[in-house]
Amino acid sequence: MKAYKQQFVTQLGEEEITVVIQASRRKSMRLAWSPAGQVDLRIPVGVPRSDVLTFLKKHESWLLQRRRDWLQARDASRGSMELVGETVQLVPWQGRGLKLEEGRLLVPAGSEQQQTDAIDRWLRQQAKELYQGLIDDWWPQFQQYAAAKPVLRIKRMRTRWGSLSTRGYINLNLALMHQPLDLIELVVVHELCHLAHFDHGPGFRRLMAHHLPDCRAREQQLNQVRLNGFQPTC
Ligand SMILES: [Zn+2]
Repeated sequence: MKAYKQQFVTQLGEEEITVVIQASRRKSMRLAWSPAGQVDLRIPVGVPRSDVLTFLKKHESWLLQRRRDWLQARDASRGSMELVGETVQLVPWQGRGLKLEEGRLLVPAGSEQQQTDAIDRWLRQQAKELYQGLIDDWWPQFQQYAAAKPVLRIKRMRTRWGSLSTRGYINLNLALMHQPLDLIELVVVHELCHLAHFDHGPGFRRLMAHHLPDCRAREQQLNQVRLNGFQPTC
């Protein structure tokens, strides 16, 4: 059997993680977190996929910790963050809580991990308000298609900007917070249009164009965005 390389995305905990597999003539599996923000997995040729998944599952908490460390290092080195179309500087301060003022986000001083966690919590709270506000604003135009307003869930996803579940949830990516408002709105309207049309066929396209006449331009803009090398879809 020959050596090969392949990659796939898997769900670990709440996160979607890219796994790059290299199979070669070796005896055991070896796991590493790559600087690219992916899982590097070396395996012996011939190991079945089920064994690979079991192995990943077994090391789930280790991987999630590596991922948190990596996200933290990335954010710390950046020193700034895109927030709904604006660049804000991340500035440590001695006060309580996070405070947004004049293009700066004041973050309570602490370890890098504490700061990362605080920013993440704050971002989720902001996302909750912003996304829910957009859903509420648009809901009157869509309530004819559903018995109840879909319930918002905010997730970090690698491959999706958003999705609408048949069980009544609208899932929106936390990473949308780093995009301009008109692109966040695009995804919200896109998912709400799925209440009327499950696919992206002509009926769906008509409804999108009816509500957002410039949806094509917004879609082109969103399609330029990559999350760790991925082009997420809706
Ligand atoms: Zn869609």
